[in-house]
Amino acid sequence: MSICIPQEVISCSNFIDGEWVRGEAGTIDIRSPYNGKKIGEVSLPSAAQISKAIKAAGSAQVDWAKSPLKERARILFNFRNILMRDLHEISHLKASESGKTFEEGRAGLMKGIEVLEYALSLQNIDVGGKMEVSRGVNCEYRRTPLGVVANITPFNFPAMVPMWTIPIALALGNAYVWKPSEKTPLTSMRIANALKEAGLPSGLLTVLQGSAATVEAIIEAPEVKAVGFVGSTKIAKLVYIKTTGLGKRALCLGGAKNHIVLLPDASPELAGVGISDSFTGCAGQRCMAASVLLAVGDVEKHIERIVARASSLKLGTDMGALITKTQKDFLIEAIGRAEALGAKIILDGRKAKAPQGFEEGNWLGPTIIDHVQAGSEAATVELFGPIISIIHCKDVTHALEIQNTSEYGNACSVFTNSGAMAERVIRESQAGMVGINVGVPVPREPFSFGGIAASKFGSGDITGEHSLNFWSDLKKVTTKWEKQNDSNWMS
Ligand code: NAD
Repeated sequence: MSICIPQEVISCSNFIDGEWVRGEAGTIDIRSPYNGKKIGEVSLPSAAQISKAIKAAGSAQVDWAKSPLKERARILFNFRNILMRDLHEISHLKASESGKTFEEGRAGLMKGIEVLEYALSLQNIDVGGKMEVSRGVNCEYRRTPLGVVANITPFNFPAMVPMWTIPIALALGNAYVWKPSEKTPLTSMRIANALKEAGLPSGLLTVLQGSAATVEAIIEAPEVKAVGFVGSTKIAKLVYIKTTGLGKRALCLGGAKNHIVLLPDASPELAGVGISDSFTGCAGQRCMAASVLLAVGDVEKHIERIVARASSLKLGTDMGALITKTQKDFLIEAIGRAEALGAKIILDGRKAKAPQGFEEGNWLGPTIIDHVQAGSEAATVELFGPIISIIHCKDVTHALEIQNTSEYGNACSVFTNSGAMAERVIRESQAGMVGINVGVPVPREPFSFGGIAASKFGSGDITGEHSLNFWSDLKKVTTKWEKQNDSNWMS
């Protein structure tokens, strides 16, 4: 096992006005998915503590908003260097609490650092616009922060998902309130401490632990002007409705059921690795994981490659664990229900052996369910585990018809050598992110991240250029200093 699981229980609390404060509303135990052992205890904030924390954030933001972007960027640059220095340790911690492998933990943090680098580049690329619109009259854009903004994050990427928004929101002059997942809160301590060490003034980053009660109090706080959310569709919709109902802006990313269209002319090598890695990476616990394989025509040799690659993965080293035992039991039951409907299990993860010494962990091996019925649970419900359902389709039209019936719209990929077929999938699939011979089509920065349909409530994307107008306002300024003799109707 190449992961260092904390040997002592880590005490995790709330980061309020630059200090760690023990919550007064009870505690939650944090158990490692690797072995079920308690590795942390997190204390939850009371309503009074939440209110105090957000007020402190509001006060701190006033000065921060006055500082030039270049000054804010200097602190974020220090933050980047500290994260790079501590990359190894943070990756072990986030893997220990989320069940990822060390490599996956590291990759998630690196992707977060890529967003941080984008935020650092804003001082050079987001320079606004100015134009003389008539004689002696100028119009310009000025970007202004919103004030206090909040973000609520899921368990599956304890560093990457928060890092999609922390650097951009702070760079734009906001104070940021973060509510990490109650299942994976330990990484938040490392990120907050890194920002403190980088020189971020107290109050500009607040970390409040807990679940629904904390989220509701954050949304209701009058100082909070915008709420970002990443998690399941059910909660994304709830948070979106509650936040926008209070007249605040919200961008809420939800769940997914991602399809891959596999055509006979695809490279078996690319398809074998790309599709297998897509549904097994992070033990299938990622919103970009392939979940349904739409097999068009004779693709038997490709499927053999997918099975070979997936069955070669060793639990604990090549593939991590599931977040909870409850989730493991749900997946085992879902596989059973698909089988009862006549599907064939051609790779059965239920039989996979736990790594030695980690028998108490939440393990399920890669599972491939063939001949799944369109419309059934395995074809439509987000299972969130290392499972792929194969549906056989007579042609691309049939495959796209199935893809288009999904309530979600996060990702869709096609494996083919035909440019025309690829173009058709790009145009006709209902998905915000499309991959051509790429199993996990996560856009790299500065291309922004975001799905459509039930995978996202609100407009714009959560990263990149299309996130800027979410975390800030554009003030339009029109200036004239002298009376002009030839003034026209607008000047
Ligand atoms: P979740 O919806 O259970 O929890 C997400 C966050 O919401 C957590 O911080 C949690 O504490 C909070 N929460 C839970 N119940 C709440 C309630 N009633 N009111 C307010 N807040 C509440 O999601 P999860 O299980 O942590 O994460 C997995 C889900 O996230 C999957 O559906 C996955 O597809 C999705 N996800 C989506 C993206 C994306 O970019 N679209 C990225 C990562 C994960």
